[in-house]
Amino acid sequence: MDHFLYRDGTLHAEDVAISDIAAAVGTPFYVYSTATLERHYRLFEEALSPLPHLVCFAVKSNGNVAVLKTLAKLGAGMDVVSGGEYLRAKAAGVPGERIVFSGVGKTRAEMRQALEGGIRQFNVESEPELLALSEVAAGLGLRAPIAIRVNPDVDAKTHEKIATGKKENKFGIPIARAREVYAEAARLPGIEVVGIDVHIGSQLTDLEPFELAYAKVAELTRALRADGHTITRLDLGGGLGIPYERSNSAPPLPVEYGALIKRTVGDLGCEVEIEPGRLISGNAGLLVASVIYLKHGEGRDFLILDAAMNDLVRPSMYGAHHDIIPVQEPTPGLEPQPYDIVGPVCETGDTFAKARPLPPLGPEDLVAFRSAGAYGAVMASEYNTRPLVPEVLVSGDQFAVIRARPTFDEIINRDTIPSWL
Ligand SMILES: *Cc1c(COP(=O)(O)O)cnc(C)c1O
Repeated sequence: MDHFLYRDGTLHAEDVAISDIAAAVGTPFYVYSTATLERHYRLFEEALSPLPHLVCFAVKSNGNVAVLKTLAKLGAGMDVVSGGEYLRAKAAGVPGERIVFSGVGKTRAEMRQALEGGIRQFNVESEPELLALSEVAAGLGLRAPIAIRVNPDVDAKTHEKIATGKKENKFGIPIARAREVYAEAARLPGIEVVGIDVHIGSQLTDLEPFELAYAKVAELTRALRADGHTITRLDLGGGLGIPYERSNSAPPLPVEYGALIKRTVGDLGCEVEIEPGRLISGNAGLLVASVIYLKHGEGRDFLILDAAMNDLVRPSMYGAHHDIIPVQEPTPGLEPQPYDIVGPVCETGDTFAKARPLPPLGPEDLVAFRSAGAYGAVMASEYNTRPLVPEVLVSGDQFAVIRARPTFDEIINRDTIPSWL
């Protein structure tokens, strides 16, 4: 469920007409709904209660500081994968003890930054990382709290680019070697073992891979305790999928996911952490664009938008589907027409949808890409010197620009000319 509905013939974000935002900000832009962000966060909160738990929002799905602050005010933790994301979480007022640091390639500088600024735990993904972290922490006179990310060799049954839990993926330590690596961790002066971490992929639309992975984590918890380790936290990762295609998909609900967690690891007396990104931010955002031209091609009509692959890369990168709807509510009875929906970038890959049925549209009409709040703005670039797409946050009847569109001067003046030119 989200808070983007037609009212008086126009698509609204909560109580704000999308066309009013477009008039004020210009297109393209992202718009997020506070009520939807809050609702999705609370669904996880409720799904995990009464287990002791922390819901850590995956900052990589949507890192805007205003979005993070909206969630932080509700008590959310944050899962970060870079020093930059760590600083975003801090800028949103999230205390270090609610920030988890994930990722396969943490640098020593990032480790130091997080240790000095405060950190709940590092999710360690390799032995070289473990050694480096121990050295950095010991050098600061600290012990770094860690969970080791285990790779359970489970098929997440999702897109190959976002599956992370198979042995051929670069993530984590093979679960079969976990006891050995935990023994090594326990011997290191700068390390304090606190838990186990697992994350098997993104956009999972079936609960079975979670069930298989979490059963392995439960077994490992018992084995590690028998080896003398103190395991007080289980970080179960993110990855619950969302319905990108409203007409034909119904992924599992957070409450079903919560029941699975309770069933598989609920009796271990651990604090449970989860790291959802997409399910909290995905359906809380739209990308709004204008039609520039309607171009009649051979056997097809192209709807050329002012948004492009640099603004929303998921269709060209993952072949992903986004529902696209007109901002003006279509008049009932109008026959939908098939359109190839494309952007202005000079690549054939700059195609959002092919033969997509939509009510008749023409120049200056506004359209909205649904489910664009996750992995949308954060993956945007300035390819073709198209200004980074701005972001807007709505709350009730208010809206605010939470990242402004840069001017061309700002963009071009970032380049500097060497002395010899
Ligand atoms: C990407 C990622 C997440 C979030 O995944 P979603 O599918 O957005 O829920 C959580 N944890 C880790 C370690 C990740 O890499």
